[in-house]
Amino acid sequence: MATVGVIGLGNMGRGMALSLKRAGVAVLGYDAMPETRGALAAEGVDIAADLATLCASAELVVLSLPTAAIVEEVVAGPDGLLEHAKPGLLVVDTSTSHPDTTRKLAKALEAKGMAMIDAPVSGGPKGAITATMTMVIGGSDADVARAMPTLEAMSATRVHVGPVGAGHVTKIINNLLCAAHLLTTAEALRLAQESGVEPARMLEGINAGSGRSGVSQVNAPTWILNGAFNSGFTMKLMRKDVKLGTDLLSGLGLEMPMFAAAADIWADSAASIADGEDFNRIVETQFSPAKKG
Ligand code: NAD
Repeated sequence: MATVGVIGLGNMGRGMALSLKRAGVAVLGYDAMPETRGALAAEGVDIAADLATLCASAELVVLSLPTAAIVEEVVAGPDGLLEHAKPGLLVVDTSTSHPDTTRKLAKALEAKGMAMIDAPVSGGPKGAITATMTMVIGGSDADVARAMPTLEAMSATRVHVGPVGAGHVTKIINNLLCAAHLLTTAEALRLAQESGVEPARMLEGINAGSGRSGVSQVNAPTWILNGAFNSGFTMKLMRKDVKLGTDLLSGLGLEMPMFAAAADIWADSAASIADGEDFNRIVETQFSPAKKG
């Protein structure tokens, strides 16, 4: 397999780079932060000093970047991939980004003989480092097939949901649902507590019933009820994803009251829950895990 560049070596990109390396892939990493580049070099990942150096050897580039604006800057900004890469480059954007940005960048890359697919991920830093992430993929059949060996080295489950941008639409919907489930589950936990039912026992009950969700089955026992709040996914990133969701709705002229109510609570939470806190902390707007029912 040719050299794979990984741009963005944070909570997710670090794990992806290490998983690729473990699978025998030649990896060349890059991050804007010198200390992050140094940390990954210390873990044995080859590091490029800049994007021009990375583009000189990588035929496929994985992006794991915070926002759509930063993805745009890295791909199409001055000194970006469009400027430095050779025809034939395939860009795999695993960031949670805006589908309009993705489609626009895919067109710009195509005009230069390059291509892009979107493959946003679930599974958190643990999924990235153990190569057990889930990917929802948007792209042409040919581009997805070309990326498949790289995708397989980073993930356990892959669903090709449509053309370029479809992965990001699906990921945004997934995270809107997760954001809403966190709020409804917080209310459920409080309701149990106020009713004199042990929250953990109530969850056991609903997890055997039709009210269950990823939040009630995974987040609650792993990061909430035990007070750990160490999932590796921050309030800042989830607030960004919820905003991507409301942007998607307003761009389509859609009014959806349930998503809108959840989005308002997430936006308001900026006043009381800091950006760097774990995203599961949103439950504390209703429920304190320390308080026993
Ligand atoms: P992070 O902030 O930990 O890492 C992002 C990295 O990108 C940082 O190391 C930063 O220095 C680097 N970066 C920023 N601007 C850059 C630039 N111009 N050039 C090169 N590098 C640059 O974020 P993360 O948690 O790893 O998330 C990355 C993406 O994955 C986000 O879009 C996020 O929404 C998504 N995501 C995260 C999780 C999670 O659990 N953390 C889960 C699923 C999806």
